[in-house]
Amino acid sequence: MEKLTDIIGIGVGPFNLSIAALLEQVPSLTSCFLEHKKSFIWHEGLMLPNTYMQTSYLKDLVTAVAPESPYSFIAYLVRNKKFYRFLNTEQKTITRAEFSDYLSWVSKQLNNVNFSQTVEDINFVGDQFVITTNQAQYQAKHICLGTGKSPYIPAEIKPYLGDNCFHASEIGLRNIDLTGKRVVLVGGGQTGADVFLNALRGNWGQPAQLDWVSRRANFQALDEAAFSNEYFMPRYVEQFYHLDEAVKQQEIRAQKLTSDGITSDALLAIYQELYDKFEVQKQRKWVRLLPHRTVSAMNNAVNGFNLIADNNLTGKDEHYAATVVILATGFESKIPACIKALTPMLDLSEGGLLQLDPNFRVKWTGNKDNHIYAVNAGLDSHGIADPQLSLMAWRSAKIINDLLPEPAFDLGENQHVIQWTNDDVEDNLEPINRVRNSVKNVVKSTVKSTSEIEMDSVDKATKDVMTEQVLSMV
Ligand SMILES: Cc1cc2nc3c(=O)[nH]c(=O)nc-3n(C[C@H](O)[C@H](O)[C@H](O)COP(=O)(O)OP(=O)(O)OC[C@H]3O[C@@H](n4cnc5c(N)ncnc54)[C@H](O)[C@@H]3O)c2cc1C
Repeated sequence: MEKLTDIIGIGVGPFNLSIAALLEQVPSLTSCFLEHKKSFIWHEGLMLPNTYMQTSYLKDLVTAVAPESPYSFIAYLVRNKKFYRFLNTEQKTITRAEFSDYLSWVSKQLNNVNFSQTVEDINFVGDQFVITTNQAQYQAKHICLGTGKSPYIPAEIKPYLGDNCFHASEIGLRNIDLTGKRVVLVGGGQTGADVFLNALRGNWGQPAQLDWVSRRANFQALDEAAFSNEYFMPRYVEQFYHLDEAVKQQEIRAQKLTSDGITSDALLAIYQELYDKFEVQKQRKWVRLLPHRTVSAMNNAVNGFNLIADNNLTGKDEHYAATVVILATGFESKIPACIKALTPMLDLSEGGLLQLDPNFRVKWTGNKDNHIYAVNAGLDSHGIADPQLSLMAWRSAKIINDLLPEPAFDLGENQHVIQWTNDDVEDNLEPINRVRNSVKNVVKSTVKSTSEIEMDSVDKATKDVMTEQVLSMV
């Protein structure tokens, strides 16, 4: 058994990697991060050509809380001798391949990250967690779950999963050939767009037919407007946490396109490719764009599958023949299998998911001095920023601060633009109110002592009026 560590991270995607990188600045805490893969690759199955980040490269592992860190994206550019050439490209967003390379570069420098370690089981024994991997046993005072999300497969499609029906997250891991096939792609988010563009460009061979089915009302753009980006601010997340549960759900639904739309660049690339193929090259129309359709059933057919979709505009069923079905149907939160032994102590939500406190501690009934933290598990509690990279560094710093008697990272924020609630105003005034209250207390005690010595002849009511008049001037 390895010696007791302050915090052990389970899984090393970007989120736990960010904590691992920031912990290098905090020598008072021992840490260890365990990852199943042999080395760092970010969403390997979706590492397709021409895929770009949805977020700025400045929203990296560390910069937002520790710009001096040697693990920033800028440090990566400089250390890899490509800083000036990077600037010459004038890109606002980088490819996913480069972001993955940056993450991998950081992971190779960190002593607290261990690969080829599949966490199989976590128990709580005495006053510590015991973590069993395929290679060793570890003990930790606290753990941080960072195992990511699981591909979401609609129930009606599950029975048909196989070589010709699969989730898009596996597409880069399969040796697929779409030549001459009738392909139905389900799902109208960014992943759907990335797969569609690659299939349209014939990157997996020339399909006979390519149908892109989406439940959404159209192929909708990511809302990246300045005010929408205020949802990705620490203060917003902190306020969101305290809203009513029903209001939170309503806001998450309303903000769908802020977190889950398709980048305008990707939409334009698709549109231009369609124009070139069908208006300039005048190819036979082998593509159909099918928004506003909800897949309601699927069954086997002679040469593959038959998909049935409800057209939400006409209310009618439509049938689509497919030899290959690709599901870009998103990802869902699940409780990691390795914490099964802890489940009786977890305070789960009605939906059976982890519940978090404001500092990303999982609510549980175990020892109050041992914390289970979770990253990428707080959509319902902390809002749409939680599954995104935008506030990754801030959340990491918040978790590290929570582990320490004194904060290691300054998370104080400047004023912000939108006044979401009036509590916000009160909070902004808090430092002023604190000064005002202490001045008032000094005035009160001065008036009191003065009255005792020099104002004995004045009656109490008059003294009170005088005191109030002085206080109103403060
Ligand atoms: C294709 C794609 C592109 C995205 N692009 C963006 C973007 O541009 N901007 C943005 O803000 N967000 C983006 N996101 C959303 C989000 O930022 C990413 O999904 C991000 O990778 C989440 O990080 P994570 O650390 O929670 O999980 P993951 O990256 O999924 O990492 C989890 C890790 O845990 C490991 N693991 C799981 N179980 C175990 C176990 N039992 N033992 C050991 N290891 C285990 C896995 O091997 C994996 O490496 C994207 C998501 C996807 C799918």
